[in-house]
Amino acid sequence: SDESEWDSIGDEFADDDGEATPKPVLAVVGRPNVGKSTLVNRILGRREAVVQDTPGVTRDRVAYDALWNGRKFTVLDTGGWEPSADGLAGAVAAQAEYAMTHSDAVVVVVDATVGATATDEAVSKVLRRSKVPVILVANKVDDDRLIADTASLWSLGLGEPFPVSALHGRNSGDLLDAILAALPESPKDTFGVQGGPRRVALVGKPNVGKSSLLNRLTGENRAVVDSVAGTTVDPVDSIVELDGQLWRFVDTAGLRKRVNFASGTEYYASLRTKAAIESAEVVIVLLDASDPIAEQDLRVLTMVVDSGRACVLAFNKWDLVDEDRRHAMVRELERGLVRVPWAEKVNVSALTGRSVRKLAPALRTALNSWDQRVSTGQLNSWLSDLVAATPPPVRGGKQPKILFATQASTRPPTIVLFTSGFLEAGYRRFVERKFRETFGFTGSPVRISVRVRE
Ligand code: GDP
Ligand code: GDP
Repeated sequence: SDESEWDSIGDEFADDDGEATPKPVLAVVGRPNVGKSTLVNRILGRREAVVQDTPGVTRDRVAYDALWNGRKFTVLDTGGWEPSADGLAGAVAAQAEYAMTHSDAVVVVVDATVGATATDEAVSKVLRRSKVPVILVANKVDDDRLIADTASLWSLGLGEPFPVSALHGRNSGDLLDAILAALPESPKDTFGVQGGPRRVALVGKPNVGKSSLLNRLTGENRAVVDSVAGTTVDPVDSIVELDGQLWRFVDTAGLRKRVNFASGTEYYASLRTKAAIESAEVVIVLLDASDPIAEQDLRVLTMVVDSGRACVLAFNKWDLVDEDRRHAMVRELERGLVRVPWAEKVNVSALTGRSVRKLAPALRTALNSWDQRVSTGQLNSWLSDLVAATPPPVRGGKQPKILFATQASTRPPTIVLFTSGFLEAGYRRFVERKFRETFGFTGSPVRISVRVRE
C-alpha cells in the first residue's frame, strides 16, 4: 500500500480541530465616565448594563465575545484605567496606544453632553496615527436635539462623529453596522497563530496563589474589586501582555471573585476548573512548592491530561523553598508527576516576581508542540527503525506487526498506529517515549491510538 492511501485514512481520524475561525478584535477606548462600559454592554446585547459607578475601581482589560448579524468578533474593553503618574490624559493616551496596536478597529467614545475635553484631545492625537480604522462615537445623545452639538467633535480630527445613546440603545444598530463594516473579515496577525490571543487557563487548588500570580502578571499588585452591588458580570477573560505577546487568560473573573467557601463549593470549584481548562488551549497548573503534592493537585492534573490541552507546571511560592524542601521534592515529583513527564516546569514566586517571565516562553513551547505535525514519511521511517530494533512483544504466540503510522490530528497531536495485532500498553508507552525522544513535543500530551487491521 502506498503512502497516499494511508494519508487519506489518516484524514478519516483527523479531529475537527475545534477552532473557530479567527475573530477580529474591536477595542473600546475613552476617558472615564463617557459610557464605554454601557456601550460595550449594548454591543454585547445585554439587557442589563454592567456599569461600575464606584470611583477608583480599576477594571482590567477584558475581552468579550460579540455577535452581530451573524458575524463574530471580540470586544476589548480597556476599562477605566486610573490616572497614572502622567495624569489622566497620559493614562488614557497609553490605553489608546495599546488599543491601536492590538486590535483591528478602535471605537473612541466621547461624551457629547460635555464636548471635547483636553483628555479627549490627547487620545485623538494618538489615534490620528492609527493604521486601523477609528470610529468616533458621540455618546449620551439621548435625543435628537443634541445631534447638532456633536458637530463640534469634528475638531478631534477623527472624522464624522457617530451619535448614539448607549444607555437607551439609540442608533446602536447603525453603529454596529458601521463597526462591522470597519472590521476586517479576519484579524491581523499580531496575536499569534489563530488570530486571537491564545487562550490560557490558570488552575490549581485553593490558596496555591492563582490570583496572586494573575495580579503579578497583569502588573497590578493590589486587589481588584470586581463585584459592585447589584451587578453580575459574565465570566470574563483577561487580556495579559507577556513577553511582547497577548494572551487571553480565561475565566479570570472567577479567579478574582473569591467565592466564599461554603459547603459543596469544592464540587463547584472543580466544575469551574474543568470549564476553564476546556475553554483554554494551554493550561498553567499551579502547584505549591512549599507543600507536598496533594490529592487535589493530582485531580487537577488528571483533568488537564484528560482534556488533551497543552500544559505548563508552575511551582509557586518558590521563595519558601529551602535546601531541605528541595531535596524532599525530587522524589515527590517523580511519583506525583508520572502522568506529565513531558510538561515543562517553571519555579516561580507570585510574591517576589521570581522567574515569572519564564512563563511566556514555556507557554509558547507547549503551544508549538500542541500544534506540531510530523509528516507521514518522517513518522514511518522513524517507526520502521524503532520496530526493527525493538519489535512489539509476542502475544498469544503471535508477533503483532506495526504496519503503518500517521499523525491523524494536532491539538493534541494524535498518532494512529495500524497494526496486525494487539499492542500491549507497555509497548505503546515505549513508542510514545521514543517518539518524544525523536520529535520532542515538550509541553503537549501526545495520544497514541492503535487500529488493528485484520
Ligand atoms: P465608562 O467609565 O466610560 O465605562 O462609563 P460607564 O459606561 O461606566 O458610564 C458612565 C455613566 O454614564 C453611567 O452613569 C452611565 O449610566 C452613563 N451613561 C452611559 N451612556 C449613557 C447615555 O447614552 N446617556 C446617558 N444619559 N448616560 C449614559
Ligand atoms: P488562590 O486561592 O489560588 O487564588 O491563592 P491566592 O493568590 O489567594 O494566594 C493564597 C495565599 O498565598 C495568599 O496569602 C498569598 O499571599 C500567598 N502567596 C501567593 N503566592 C505566593 C508566593 O509566591 N510566595 C508566598 N510566600 N506566598 C504566596
